[in-house]
Amino acid sequence: MIFDIMTLFPELVERVLGESIIGRAAKNGIIEIKCHNIRDFSEDKHRRVDDTPYGGGKGMLMAAPPIYNCYKHIIDSRPETEGNRCVVYMSPAGEVLNQKKAEALVNFEHIIILCGHYEGVDRRIIDEIVDMEISIGDFVLTGGEIPACILVDCVARLADGVLAAPECYEEESISSGLLEYPQYTRPYEFHGVSVPDVLISGHHENIEKWRREKAIELTKERRPDLYSEYERSVSNETARSKKTSRGTK
Ligand code: SAM
Repeated sequence: MIFDIMTLFPELVERVLGESIIGRAAKNGIIEIKCHNIRDFSEDKHRRVDDTPYGGGKGMLMAAPPIYNCYKHIIDSRPETEGNRCVVYMSPAGEVLNQKKAEALVNFEHIIILCGHYEGVDRRIIDEIVDMEISIGDFVLTGGEIPACILVDCVARLADGVLAAPECYEEESISSGLLEYPQYTRPYEFHGVSVPDVLISGHHENIEKWRREKAIELTKERRPDLYSEYERSVSNETARSKKTSRGTK
């Protein structure tokens, strides 16, 4: 899986994504992450990439031509991904990122990400090259670099071979439809609190049951919205399996 990131601050993105699990996956060739400095594609002799907005107003806007030149350079250098790529603009006006969107994006072979800065970017470049606008939440940051790192991290960890096994993310908060149950490691006792007995019982069925109960309890308490969705999907699943078993009789 390939991520090409168009940014004015490549070092910032490279620094963040060069570390830990994602950095290791890139070093091992499981994924490829490449940052492109939009300024390198400016035709202006001072390498300018921004200008004042038409109609007035405070701040500067990233101009379309350098972004287009950068995008063209990326797609021309990767003709093999045509038909299996998605161009994302990180934007507070986009749809808010969630696990479902990450799961949809991991199916693309090639993701190109545009990071805005200043007051944002000229609308014409969004309309021409962008497939999807994604926000990381209802707040405004100074640039799209941190949102891009968040997007790459949560999509890349779903790509084959990045984590040790799919179970690593299938049972986690959100992916499973519930928040994750509490977890414990050594020492057995910490500041007078010991690990719940069931976890050292060795009884796998009871452990599973306890974890599920705790996950349901936590989700009900903290995320009633998520819990209602989970309940709906469980009752749909039950109805579907009843129908299938009637059909096979
Ligand atoms: N004037 C823009 C608006 O009101 O929508 C905000 C521009 S913001 C200061 C600069 C850049 O940061 C944006 O172009 C976008 O790339 C990025 N950005 C800011 N907040 C974001 C968020 N919540 N999610 C994704 N990207 C964001």
